Amino acid sequence: MSDSEPHVGAESATVARSWLGEAPVTPVILVVGGAASIALWFGVRVSDGLSVERSASWLVLFFGLALTGLAALFARTMRRHSLTLGRLERSEHDAKHDVLTGLLNRAGLTEALTDILSDRRGAALSGVLFLDLDRLKVVNDSIGHSAGDEVLSEVARRLALIIREDDIIGRFGGDEFVIVSTGVPAISDLTTLADRVLDALKEPAVLSDESSQMIAASIGIAFAARSEATAEDLLRDADLAMYRAKEAGGARYEVFDDEMRAQAVARLEVERELRRAIRTGQLIVHYQPIVDVRTGGVDRLEALVRWQHPVRGMIPPGAFLSVAAESGLIVDVGEHVLREACRQSALWTAAIGREVMVSVNVAERQLVDTSLVDTVRRVIGETGINPSQLELEITEELIVDRLDHRLTVLHELVAMGVQLAIDDFGTSRASLGQLKKLDMVNTLKIDRAFVIDVVNDVVDRKIITAIVALAESVGMEVVAEGVEDADQVSVLRQLGIDRIQGFYFQRPGPSENMASLLGKRFEVPEPIDLGI
Ligand code: C2E
Ligand code: MG
Ligand code: MG
Repeated sequence: MSDSEPHVGAESATVARSWLGEAPVTPVILVVGGAASIALWFGVRVSDGLSVERSASWLVLFFGLALTGLAALFARTMRRHSLTLGRLERSEHDAKHDVLTGLLNRAGLTEALTDILSDRRGAALSGVLFLDLDRLKVVNDSIGHSAGDEVLSEVARRLALIIREDDIIGRFGGDEFVIVSTGVPAISDLTTLADRVLDALKEPAVLSDESSQMIAASIGIAFAARSEATAEDLLRDADLAMYRAKEAGGARYEVFDDEMRAQAVARLEVERELRRAIRTGQLIVHYQPIVDVRTGGVDRLEALVRWQHPVRGMIPPGAFLSVAAESGLIVDVGEHVLREACRQSALWTAAIGREVMVSVNVAERQLVDTSLVDTVRRVIGETGINPSQLELEITEELIVDRLDHRLTVLHELVAMGVQLAIDDFGTSRASLGQLKKLDMVNTLKIDRAFVIDVVNDVVDRKIITAIVALAESVGMEVVAEGVEDADQVSVLRQLGIDRIQGFYFQRPGPSENMASLLGKRFEVPEPIDLGI
């Protein structure tokens, strides 16, 4: 089905019906019919030459009026009927179309694509181009949503100019558009169309405020030949290919292929298994001590999740956290680790008679999830630890973007008495302005990248010196991560680091391996001054 013809036809019918509905047909019939009946009655009464009896004039009047009444009743019923039909058609039309651009919306386009796929003929292909604008968020955030709307309308206009008559365009929501191209002989026709789209979006859009806005798009292409692909399959494949185009820098297209399909299937399989792993307790927590360099004591450990897979053995977090983040499962994983770490903190504290702190990593999805604060409060209550025994680690990356949105959550956590740390510091260019807003943070964890060469690289030593000075000025402690040898410890001590975490002291391990370390004092190598 091409949407355009039936759509136009339906609209003209709607217009005709609504005209009928809105015209004052019933009163007109009443007036005209009534007048005609009276005129006829009068005519019969005054005319001498007619063969009709004068007494019959009342009969004429009666039938005239009755006929008029019936006609008026019929017109009224038709009018009501047409209004209802008109409204139904309008609401059906609205349900399938995007208000801003007038294009089909997600529901309308999916339905149209389903029709096309069920009507597949011959060797021709049907293809989907999934477009995602690369810069709409920047326009919305910097100039405002009405400017964003103008850009979207302009994109819709330009796309309409380049598609073939039978192609269908839809706005899928937000900054996503979909073009469905039917009956194309080869995949190269789809890539040619994608090239035309990229060309059409090259010229900046001039908005009503006279500013020029660049409007590039990332495009994913998926096609159905004789396969049994459904509309949802095609749209999902094209969406995945679009992500590839975006990852590759945007303003380009990618065609969905077998390799992408295999990766998508593997990812889905990991997701399915991970779901089960959460349910069946395959996710376990290891701990790594964070050693105080002045005393060599351990009163703080980082909780690190691992997947104890029944067949593949111990899987490190780097191998499954991205799937967990994309699927949203990270919220469940995070809550599990949080509960487990707090429970362990309570056990250790009871065992040694002094408070042991646990540091728990928080993923972006958890930070934007409105339930984080409640979850933390509930877990602290359940496990009975002092809130200051819990430190939440937030990577620097998460405070570089949209810090203002996240400050509220961080303040609520601090108000509860929980400690905060910035993890992997030095990897994401947080600004001084952003750090100033984070004065409620207790700890800054310098990323391993600066530690690896600290003995040989004077630049790394300079960077660490600057970070330590910065942290001191805002009252934060500094932890160095990934410390593997004694020389690194000595140099880091000299540079003013407060705590050290790394294989040199202890690799992460199960909670039972850590119990004996809590009462112990590690021997910490003396500082060495290598100059900076
Ligand atoms: P991270 O939070 O920066 O954790 C430190 C990582 O460095 C851990 O890797 C740890 O095993 C490793 N490490 C510690 N000392 C050394 C060392 O001396 N040398 C080297 N080469 N590595 C060292 P792991 O356990 O594989 O975790 C990797 C990342 O996964 C973590 O980095 C963290 O970002 C994330 N992660 C781990 N557990 C969780 C969790 O429960 N939730 C979330 N959201 N993320 C987690
Ligand atoms: Mg961490
Ligand atoms: Mg880290």
